Amino acid sequence: MLLEQLREIVCKCNMELPQKDLVRGTSGNVSGRDSETGLVVIKPSGVSFEELTPENQVVVDLNGNVVQGDLKPSTDTDTHLYVYGRRTDVMGIVHTHSPYASSFAALGQPIPACLTTCGMLGGEVPLGGYAPIGGEDIGQEIIDKIGRALAIIMQNHGVFTIGGSAQEATKIAVEVEEIAKITHLAMSRGQPIMLTEEQIDYMVNLYRHNYGQ
Ligand SMILES: [Zn+2]
Repeated sequence: MLLEQLREIVCKCNMELPQKDLVRGTSGNVSGRDSETGLVVIKPSGVSFEELTPENQVVVDLNGNVVQGDLKPSTDTDTHLYVYGRRTDVMGIVHTHSPYASSFAALGQPIPACLTTCGMLGGEVPLGGYAPIGGEDIGQEIIDKIGRALAIIMQNHGVFTIGGSAQEATKIAVEVEEIAKITHLAMSRGQPIMLTEEQIDYMVNLYRHNYGQ
């Protein structure tokens, strides 16, 4: 079986989405790209998270052809592949409708940078315009609007996060929801104090280069 190690990683990351309260039902998905072959491992479409195994993840190429797998790949596969095709640095992508972050999507608002932890996400979480599911529209919006951020709010829809691995994109998805929750609570009681550009740059740099072991 192809890409056994990446299948395990992607399966584990997919299972983390319900465990971390980021998804309900079958919505939400994680993919990871293999650096050697360029192939992408992604969640199968419409399969509940409890039924996921490393073996039933689907392997696709960048053109969307199923290379290995009995099930159809996620309905968001086109979006993942569009982003991988245009960002060689992206090796993992996560999509969720996590509630606090998606409430910003419903309002058509970016998540403003008013917490130091926003540095982990690259500052403000930008807003992508409304785009229908399937095809290249969502992917185009992500590429056009995400900039240096590792997450984007898609209007009327939910969240996409990117990272250097499936694990990193999953960690960012958890962090986006936490930041969205705190920001929502703050906005419900007043006007949050925004970080300055200089403060944001400092925190982004800290998280990208000096944080962790
Ligand atoms: Zn969605």
